[in-house]
Amino acid sequence: MPTSHCQLLIAGAGPVGLSLATALQNSGVTVTLADARAAGACLEDRRVLALSHGSKQILQQLGAWPHIEATGAATPIRQIHVSQQGGLGRTRIDADELHVPALGYVVPASEVSRALLNTLPVDAVQYDTRVIEAHEGAANAEENGDEGVNITLQTSAEVTHQHADVLAWCEGTIQPSSTSDTPQPVREHDYAQHALIGKAQPIGGHRHIAYERFTPHGPIALLPMQGGYSVVFTCPSDQLSFYTSLSEAEMISLLEREFNGRIHFENVSPLISFPLGLRVRRERTTSHQVWLGNAAQTLHPVAGQGFNLALRDVMELAQAWRSAGHTTQSIPNVLAQFAKQRQLDRAGTIGFTDMLVRLFSNANPLLKHARGAGLLALDLCPPARHFVARRMMFGARAWP
Ligand SMILES: Cc1cc2nc3c(=O)[nH]c(=O)nc-3n(C[C@H](O)[C@H](O)[C@H](O)COP(=O)(O)OP(=O)(O)OC[C@H]3O[C@@H](n4cnc5c(N)ncnc54)[C@H](O)[C@@H]3O)c2cc1C
Repeated sequence: MPTSHCQLLIAGAGPVGLSLATALQNSGVTVTLADARAAGACLEDRRVLALSHGSKQILQQLGAWPHIEATGAATPIRQIHVSQQGGLGRTRIDADELHVPALGYVVPASEVSRALLNTLPVDAVQYDTRVIEAHEGAANAEENGDEGVNITLQTSAEVTHQHADVLAWCEGTIQPSSTSDTPQPVREHDYAQHALIGKAQPIGGHRHIAYERFTPHGPIALLPMQGGYSVVFTCPSDQLSFYTSLSEAEMISLLEREFNGRIHFENVSPLISFPLGLRVRRERTTSHQVWLGNAAQTLHPVAGQGFNLALRDVMELAQAWRSAGHTTQSIPNVLAQFAKQRQLDRAGTIGFTDMLVRLFSNANPLLKHARGAGLLALDLCPPARHFVARRMMFGARAWP
């Protein structure tokens, strides 16, 4: 039996759930934000986000960017070097060429969450509160003459019921269906790779250059963050124990070899690992539910697109809802329109990320030459290079 009603219940107060709550502030929509973890857990997130220029603009609109700037948490990327190990061809993308102050910004995920929390009222999130069940258009809702979702929430002390016009699932990474109790309508591909993330201090500083280096064991990204680099080192899952057992000195010399001795490091922090896979929810909306962020699509971090794509989704959904005047009757239409309008950007971003992993994490000599030719062509053809850069910065808005 629902005991209370809100127009929107957001399941998950990670960066995506927090962004949606922020985007709907002062819109008249009543929002409940529930997170399964304890308060402060999102501030312990060890991931680092490369935010595109477009994402910065969105966070500015949400009022979160000034908090990020004030803490000095954002490091601008002024140039990106893309290359492959053991093969010819490389390309460089420069902020000046694109007439933007920076191609993007590297920000710890914890600082993005902190900034978003700072824009919301202090008690905006119900922590330690997990959505454990949801039924659309259930009997009780019909009695109210109302549609929507009946939701069961669980805290350590009690189980409560709530009714919402919309339930937004922002619960993070989609679990592999083989380990899930209820099979999900999800398209999956296991890359059999892990990302190892940590920090490295380059000798001579980073000069605001980001590196994306493709190797047969997977891509390596060096992202300028404060004085050093945030490292995302990808390796085959069956070699994870080898890479995690390397001493700091061994890791430094491995990284230097991977970059052909062009970058030298003073130190590398211990690396923590994340399994990598592609999981895409085929239908991301129903009449009264919507899936956003990692809950809608969990991507490989190779192109740093997961949160950037989610922010574009959040803004479009909030805009569509505001325009429709949030009457209960309009909800199914708003969600269906949202899914349709976001299809091009979503499919393009997922396809681009997946293509990069499959094409570049491959030792096939023919592919190596094709990749080299592709990188060289990009380097020699500014319009193509600019298009790729704009696609990464603005998603489907990059199309003329
Ligand atoms: C190594 C790595 C590097 C990355 N680099 C980049 C990058 O450079 N750029 C980029 O854009 N993206 C990047 N990403 C992707 C990015 O980290 C994610 O897209 C983003 O953090 C997802 O945020 P989220 O809010 O969807 O999920 P999460 O941050 O996982 O938050 C989910 C929240 O939901 C809560 N929750 C779970 N279940 C429930 C429930 N049933 N009820 C209530 N609450 C629940 C959890 O407690 C959690 O707080 C990277 C990812 C990885 C792994």
